Amino acid sequence: MPPSKPRSPNKMLRELRDAVGEAAVDVREATRHAYRRDMLPTLTLDARDNQGPGPQPLAVLRPRDEAAVARAVGVLAQHGVPIVPFGAGSGVCGGAAPLFGGVVIDLKHLDHLESVDAGALQVTCGPGLITQTLEERLNAAGYTLGHFPSSIFCASIGGCVAARGAGQLSSRYGKIEDMVTGLRVVTPDLGILTTGSMDRAGGTPDWTPLFVGSEGTLGVITSIRLRVHPLPEALVLRGIRLPSLDSGIATFREVLQSGLRPSVMRIYDPLDTWMAMQKSNDSGGAAPVPGAGSPLSGGARPLPAENAVDPKTADGSTSSTPRLLGSVVSPGTVADAVVSRFRRRTHRSVDTGGPLAGLKERLLKDRLAHLLKPENLPMDKLLANPALVNRTVDLLPGRCLAIVGCEGGEAEATEHLAAVVQAAHRLGGTDLGPGPGERWFRTRYHVSFKLPKVLQQGGFADTMETAAPWSQVRGLYDAVRRAVAPHVLVMAHLSHAYHEGCSIYFTFVGYGANIQATRTLYQRTWDAALEAVLAAGGTITHHHGVGVLKRDFMDREHGDARRLYEAARRALDSRHCMNVGKLFPDEVPPPGPPAPAVDSLALRLAPGEDGRADVGMGWRGVDLAAELALRGHFLPPLGRDFLEGTVGDWLESPAHAAHTAVHGAWEHPLLAVEGRMDGDRKWVSGRLPRSAAGPSYLPFGTAGATLPTQPVLATLRTLNPPQLRPVGLCFDHLETAVPALAHSLRGAPRPLAGMLYPGSDPNGFRSVVQDEQQARDGGIVYLCFGEPDGFPAGSQQVIRALQQAGGSLLGDDAALAWWEDHWGQAAREGSAALATTGPLQDAREIGRCTAVVPWGRAMLLLRAIETLTGGPTRASGWIEAPLETGCTIQWRFVSSRKGGSTSSLVTHQLRETLQSFGGRIAHIHFNSVDAIPDGMEPGRGTILSTADADGADVDRLGSALRATLEGALG
Ligand SMILES: Cc1cc2nc3c(=O)[nH]c(=O)nc-3n(C[C@H](O)[C@H](O)[C@H](O)COP(=O)(O)OP(=O)(O)OC[C@H]3O[C@@H](n4cnc5c(N)ncnc54)[C@H](O)[C@@H]3O)c2cc1C
Repeated sequence: MPPSKPRSPNKMLRELRDAVGEAAVDVREATRHAYRRDMLPTLTLDARDNQGPGPQPLAVLRPRDEAAVARAVGVLAQHGVPIVPFGAGSGVCGGAAPLFGGVVIDLKHLDHLESVDAGALQVTCGPGLITQTLEERLNAAGYTLGHFPSSIFCASIGGCVAARGAGQLSSRYGKIEDMVTGLRVVTPDLGILTTGSMDRAGGTPDWTPLFVGSEGTLGVITSIRLRVHPLPEALVLRGIRLPSLDSGIATFREVLQSGLRPSVMRIYDPLDTWMAMQKSNDSGGAAPVPGAGSPLSGGARPLPAENAVDPKTADGSTSSTPRLLGSVVSPGTVADAVVSRFRRRTHRSVDTGGPLAGLKERLLKDRLAHLLKPENLPMDKLLANPALVNRTVDLLPGRCLAIVGCEGGEAEATEHLAAVVQAAHRLGGTDLGPGPGERWFRTRYHVSFKLPKVLQQGGFADTMETAAPWSQVRGLYDAVRRAVAPHVLVMAHLSHAYHEGCSIYFTFVGYGANIQATRTLYQRTWDAALEAVLAAGGTITHHHGVGVLKRDFMDREHGDARRLYEAARRALDSRHCMNVGKLFPDEVPPPGPPAPAVDSLALRLAPGEDGRADVGMGWRGVDLAAELALRGHFLPPLGRDFLEGTVGDWLESPAHAAHTAVHGAWEHPLLAVEGRMDGDRKWVSGRLPRSAAGPSYLPFGTAGATLPTQPVLATLRTLNPPQLRPVGLCFDHLETAVPALAHSLRGAPRPLAGMLYPGSDPNGFRSVVQDEQQARDGGIVYLCFGEPDGFPAGSQQVIRALQQAGGSLLGDDAALAWWEDHWGQAAREGSAALATTGPLQDAREIGRCTAVVPWGRAMLLLRAIETLTGGPTRASGWIEAPLETGCTIQWRFVSSRKGGSTSSLVTHQLRETLQSFGGRIAHIHFNSVDAIPDGMEPGRGTILSTADADGADVDRLGSALRATLEGALG
C-alpha cells in the first residue's frame, strides 16, 4: 500500500492548484471532516457514538472538466497519494470514504448532459449528474433512463456506474451495466481511455465491463454514454396476494421467462409483507406516472380491479392495541417454551385457516406493530433475543404480497399487467387491485430513510442484497435467514427479477448494549450472512457494491479471476493509488488448485428453470442449436454468422462488442464466459445474475488470442420452446419500411428474429444479392415472435404499427418459409440444413460485412454503401436482428471483374463510412484486396496511419494487459 501522506504535502498542494485551479482545491478542516465518510452504517455509528474522527482526506478537489481530472490524477500518482473518486457519497459499503487517507476528487461539477441522440436512443453525460436530475431532464425531452435507485435524490450517475447499481424498475430496463454502452475514464498510467460506443473506431474487445463496478479502483469515470427509452405513456400497478413465497418466486420466473417485461416486480416475505401492508406514511395522491415525475402529478387511470379487496384488510389485519413482544416473552422463560409449543401446534392451522388462525394472527400483529415505528421502540427489549423474535415471525401466515407494474401505451401496459395477474392466479394468487401498488409507488423512496431512526434508538439497521439463479433463490433465502436469525431481526423481499434469476434484499435490525457490543454484533451478522450467501451459490452483492464492507469475501467469490483484476490494476495504476483498500483485500492469495480441462464440445445445461446453457468453444452454431432443441431448450436466433462458425469464432469476432456498443448488454444472449489462464487456472466472468461484486471479466473472454486468457465455455441464454409466430409484411418503398420497423419496435415486446430486405418478392430472402434489373424500391419485413401460452400476443402491437405505416400483411406460408430458412430448419437439422438455407451462393461474391447500426442511420447506410461501392464492386445490404435501439445490417459484395478482388480504397471507405455513421463493424471479410496505389496522398478515402486511428485506446489497454498478464502468469 502506498504512503497515505505525500513526502512534501505543500508541494503537492501547489501542483494540484496549478492542475485544477485554486478554487477547486479545498483544504478547510470542515470540508475534510465532512468528506470522511459515505453511508456505510459503521461510519454512521461512529458519528452517532462520537467515535473518531477517523482518517480524513488531505484535500477535496472539485475539478470542472475531464482535463482537470486528468491533471490532478497525474499529480497525485506522481506523489503516490491515494485517490478517492467521490460521486455523492450515498454508497453504503465505504467505497467513497477515504479510510486510508489521500485526496478526494468530488466529481459533481462534471455534470454535462448532451442532447439525446434520437436515432441511436443514447445520451452522453458527465458522472456528476444526480440521477434524479438526469431523469427529470430526460423526461423533459420525452425519454427515460429507467434507472430509479431508492437513493435517486442523492446518488450521482457516475457512482451508480462505478458501484454497478440497480433501480426499482430493473426488470424492464436492466441494471446500470445494461444501460452503459461506453465510457471515458482517466487512468494514472494510460491517461484517458475511451471504451465501447465512445470509442469511435469501434475497437475490440469492448472494455466497458471492466470499468463498470470497479468502484474507482481502476480509474476515474469522466463521461458516460447510456441507452435511453421513449418515456412510456402509462404505468399501471397491482398488488397480488400469493399463498407462499415459493408461489411468488414461481410466478415471477414464469412471467420473466415468457418474454414479458414488467417494470416493477417485488415479492415481500411474510414479515416484509406485513410491514408493507401496514405502512402509514402514505397520505394518498394521484395515480402513478412513468419517469421521475412527482408522485403528486396526475397520471394514468388505474386498472379496474377484478376480485379486488381493500388493501388495508387484504392480509386480514384489524386495529390493534400494541404490546411488546420482548416484554411478554423473555428468552429461556416458561413463556418462551409456551410460544415454541404454540408454534409447533398451530403453525399448520394458521396457514390453512384453522380455528386458531384469527386469534394468533391478531396476537402477532399486536406485537409486531412496534416494528413499524422504530423511533418509539425500546429496542433493547424487542431485540434482546433475535432468534426468538425471528421464530415468532415464522408464525405469520406464509402468504406474501407482490407488487407488479407494467409500462407502455396504456392499452398494452394494461394487457401485460393482466397477463401477470393471470400467471399469479394460476399459482393461487389473488388480485388486490391497484391500491397496494400505487401506495408502494408513492412511498417508494421512503423506506431507506427510516433506517437512521433505528440508529437513533441505539440499534442498527442495514440491508444486504444478493442474487442467484432461479433454482437457488429459495435455498439462498432460507440459508441467510437461518444464518443471521440468532443475531438480528431479519426480513426480505425479492425486487429485481431477470430471465435467469433474481435478487433478494434482506433487511437486518440489531441491537447491542454498548458501542463495542453493537460493532461486534454488526460484524458477526455480516460474516454469517455472507458465508451463507457464498455457500448457497449467491453473489455477495447485486447492486450496493463491495467497498470495504464485503472486500474480505471477494476472493471467495472471484477465485483465480482475482488475477485478472490485479493485471488490470497494474496496467492502469502501477503505483496503486486508485481508491486504495477498496474492493479486494491487500493480500493476493496464492493460486487455487488447477481446474479440470473442458471438452471443446462440452454442453452443460443448467436446471430447466434457470434458462441457460454452458457450451464449449468447438460447437458449430448450427449443431448447437439443433442439439439444444433436441434437449428441449430453444436457442434464440443469433444470425447466420453464428450458425456457420463455431462458438469460439463467434466469441472472438467483434460481433459481441458491436452489439453491446449499440444495444447495451441487456439484449445480448451471452451471459458469461469461463476461461483458463496460466495453463489450467480457471476464471469466470462473474456470478449470475448480474453480480455487482467488482468488474465483469467478460472482455478477457472475447479478446481472442491477443490475451493469454483462453475462453473454454460460453454461457448462453436459452428459452423454453415458445409458440412461434412468424409474420411478414410488404411495403411499397424501402424508405418507408425501415423507419416503420424502427418505430414499431419502440417499447414493444422484442421479436426473436427479423429481417428486412429491399425488393418486393416475398421469397426474395435467399437472393438478397440483387441483379441490377430487379426492382429495388419495395421492402419486405419478416419477424418471428415467441409467444408462450397464456401470455398476450407480443406480435399484435408491432403488426398494428407496421400496418398503420403502410405495410400489407403477407400470407402465413411466406412467413413460415422465411422462418424455416432463417433459423427454424437449421435449429432442427443442424449442419445438414446449411446447404439449403440462407442467402444463395453467388459465384461473383468477393466479400461480406456485418455492422450493428442505430436506427437513425440504418436507411442512410443501406443506400450509402451501395453508392460507395458502385462500379465493378457492388453491395447488397439487408437488415437483420432488429431491436428497439438499432439493427444489424449485412452486406454481400459481388464483383463483375474477373478474379474478383476489390480495391483497398473500397474497404477503407467502407470502414470509414460505417464509423462516421455510428455503425460498429461485427464482421468484415474480402477474399482478396488490391494494394493501395503508390503515391496516394493521405486524405479523404485513404488509409490513416495506425497512430492516427481512434482504435489506439483499445490497443494501448490490450498491450498493457498482455504485458501485465504475461508478467504475472510467468
Ligand atoms: C437511502 C439509500 C438507498 C439506496 N438505494 C439504492 C438502490 O436502490 N440501488 C442501488 O444500486 N444503490 C442504492 N444505494 C446505494 C448507493 O446509492 C449506490 O451505491 C450509488 O450507486 C452510489 O452513488 P454515489 O454517487 O453516491 O457514489 P459514491 O458513494 O460517492 O461512490 C460509490 C463508489 O463509486 C466510486 N465512484 C464514484 N464516482 C466515481 C467516478 N466518477 N469514477 C470512478 N469511481 C467513482 C467511489 O469511489 C465509490 O467507490 C442506496 C443508498 C442509500 C443511502
